[in-house]
Order: sequence, then C-alpha cells, then structure tokens
Amino acid sequence: MPVAAETAPPKESPNNSRQVAIVGGGPTGMALALALKLHGVAAEVFEARERAAVRRDARVLALSDGARQILEWLGVWSRLSATPIETIHISQRGGFGRSCLRAAELDMRALGWVLAAGELIAALDAAVSAAGIVYRENTRVGAAPPCVPGTPLARREAESRVCRDRGQVTAEFPLTAFAEGAVEPGAGQMRDYGQHAVLCTVTLAESHHNVAFERFTSEGPVALLPYGERYAVVLTCADTVAAEVAALDEAAFLALLQRRFGSRQRFIAASPRVAYPLGLRYRPNPVGARQVWLGNAAQTLHPVAGQGFNLALRDVWELAQQVGAAADPGAPQVLAAYARGRRADRRGAIGFTDLLIDGFASDFAPLRQVRGAGLLALDLLPPLRAFVAKRMIYGARAWP
Ligand SMILES: Cc1cc2nc3c(=O)[nH]c(=O)nc-3n(C[C@H](O)[C@H](O)[C@H](O)COP(=O)(O)OP(=O)(O)OC[C@H]3O[C@@H](n4cnc5c(N)ncnc54)[C@H](O)[C@@H]3O)c2cc1C
Repeated sequence: MPVAAETAPPKESPNNSRQVAIVGGGPTGMALALALKLHGVAAEVFEARERAAVRRDARVLALSDGARQILEWLGVWSRLSATPIETIHISQRGGFGRSCLRAAELDMRALGWVLAAGELIAALDAAVSAAGIVYRENTRVGAAPPCVPGTPLARREAESRVCRDRGQVTAEFPLTAFAEGAVEPGAGQMRDYGQHAVLCTVTLAESHHNVAFERFTSEGPVALLPYGERYAVVLTCADTVAAEVAALDEAAFLALLQRRFGSRQRFIAASPRVAYPLGLRYRPNPVGARQVWLGNAAQTLHPVAGQGFNLALRDVWELAQQVGAAADPGAPQVLAAYARGRRADRRGAIGFTDLLIDGFASDFAPLRQVRGAGLLALDLLPPLRAFVAKRMIYGARAWP
C-alpha cells in the first residue's frame, strides 16, 4: 500500500521542487513524462521491467482522433503507421437494427486509427530518450517481491533489479504519479465480467475499405479493426471457454469467428491467438496526498469500446495542464482541480462500457427488440450519431 506523504512539499530536496516521480514506464507513464516536459516540468520515471521488455506489447490499439491530436502534440504521431477507421458498423447478431458512424459525415479524415501497441510504445520511448528524461528501468517501486523495503538508495544504481520503497519515493518528490498499469488490490471498486478477450489478426478474402465492425452477440462482443490489409480481432468469450478458443487450430477458429461475426466479411487466415482476462477496476478518487493515479492504474476497462488508452491520454493531458500551471505540482488544490476535471469523462467511459456489455449481453427477445430500435434510432438520427461518435472521439468534451 502506498505510504501517504506529507501534504507540505518535501524539504530535503529543494531541487526537486517542480519534479514529478512517475511509477510505471509503460505508455501512460512515458506520455506523461513527455507532456510534463512540454510544460517545463521535469519527471523521473521508475519502471520495474527492462526497458526493451516494455516495448514488447502484442496488442493492437484503436485510438480516437482525439488521441491522435494528443500524440501529435507529444511529437510522436508522425513516427507511427496507423490505419484510418473511416466507418464504424455496429450491429447485433440475431436481431434487427444496425448503425453506421461515418467520418465523412463529421467532416473528418478518420473516426479513429488502428496501430500496434509495440510501435506506439517504441515511438514514445524514443521521444523520452531524445528529451533527456531520466528513465530508471529494472526499478520496481513498492513492497512486493523482489523488493526489500529499505534498500539503501546509494546501492540502487549498481543493482540490476533495484527496489525503491514507495514511501521513500513519495517523500522525495512533491508529486508521485502512479501509472503502474493496474489498480492495486483493495484500492478500488471492481467488477468481474467473467470474460476473456481472444486477440489475433485475420486475412480477408476482400478489402476492408477501412470499415471497423462492432458486433454484439450473446456470447460477448466481437470487434474487427482495419489493421494494414488485415483485421485485428477482439473476440470476447466466457472465462470457461477462452483457453479452448485460443487453442483451436486455425481452421476451427476461423469457422467459429465466421459463425459469431456473420457473412459481411470472409476470413481466410488467422495469426496465433492470445487471451487476456477482462474486468473493470477503478479508483473512485484518482488523487491522494501528493499522489495521483492515471491510465490503467486509475481505471482498467473492458476493451469493448477501445477506451482504455484513449482515456489514459486524456488523463495525461489534464494532469499536465494542471501541474504545468502550478508552482507546487502536488498541492492539494492542484490535485483536486485535476480530479474535478477528469470526473465526468472517467464516469462516462466506465458507464458507457458497462452499458455496452450489459445492454447487449442478454438474448431475451424483448431486449433484442429494444436494442434493435436503439440502433435504428442511431442510424436515422444524424445528431444522435454525431454525438455518439464525438463521445467516442473526445470523451466528456463531447457533452454540449
Ligand atoms: C485486450 C485488450 C485490448 C485493448 N484495446 C484497446 C484499444 O483498442 N484502445 C485503447 O485505447 N485501449 C485498449 N486497451 C487498453 C490499453 O491497452 C491500456 O489502457 C494501456 O496499455 C495502459 O497503459 P498503462 O501505461 O497505463 O499500463 P501498462 O501498459 O500496463 O504499463 C504499466 C507499466 O508499469 C510498470 N510497473 C508496474 N508496477 C510497477 C512498480 N511497482 N514499479 C515500477 N513500475 C511498475 C509495468 O512493468 C509496466 O511497464 C486494451 C486492453 C486490452 C487488455
């Protein structure tokens, strides 16, 4: 558990007065370090793993156009090869009603972008190095093994796997930002959906024309994201069958995917599958005494609507604005303003994700009719469509 720091700025390190410690050197931690640097605030990143291991992330991410704008501001977007999503097709299996969101209707080049998480992390990493930001790899912060509380700080540089005590870090810096990728057990609220996501890429018989699909079925949602010439697949399955689905041979997996998805696309080859457990975990309050939690450390969401890292980038943007304008980055009023600024967006993303899971999970016929009517209404009402698209792109900023 984190050790609460004093609310007064630390006295023993006057040169640290505007420095922020970032625990976790994943994509959120690196994006925050860059954002703070752009506001003239120095950061020191503590990462438990080897730096090269952080770049090995097999996921494919769908990012909104709002996220693209933040990554452009951080100076990394031009290094990425991302596939544009021009249309999002939403439907339910076994029921009427479907809706299409189109970039052209909003006068946009793309509703979102699909890219390899590993490529994004490598670009952030290169920018962190180029900016001269201190990044301490193999440095776990916290009391979990292999950390031995009280490891002398003087020895830490010499050790290959160094442990920094959480209390020491929070006492040394005026603000500690936790971007450690998970909500600590017991620290927040949680909901287990009883589901896993099975991920892979598939080759198609015909071009995808930059159309993404979100298809809801009683076994869980299936998302297809245009990724180069292929589709990145997120197939949601019950916990009880996920390992079995991931282990199916290619032909059997393609047949299952085709049955779940329907006939709008024909799949001809699939890459090896990986399964991830899914759940919702979040801290109702993302700030504490001289501490703040961002990204997956503040909220870990079901990937159904591709919101996780998009939300993390909006956390980063808001925190950098607040801290950049403050003399003391960890002052209670700075953190309170941050928490206030993020409240509607965090709640909205959590509620929206839950609504998609719960609203589309049941195969109960009357509910299927209601959902069909909802999708139809979305398709027939351009202002509603524009609102939903903007909500997914810009988060709470889409509210009038
Ligand atoms: C199947 C799946 C699909 C997804 N698809 C999408 C999508 O399409 N779009 C989207 O926006 N999001 C998506 N997400 C969410 C997205 O992947 C996450 O939001 C994002 O990776 C979180 O980044 P992070 O830096 O917060 O956490 P992480 O990537 O987990 O990084 C945390 C880092 O902290 C380090 N660390 C942990 N503990 C300590 C410690 N004590 N001391 C020091 N370092 C520590 C870890 O080693 C790690 O490197 C998806 C997630 C899943 C599971």
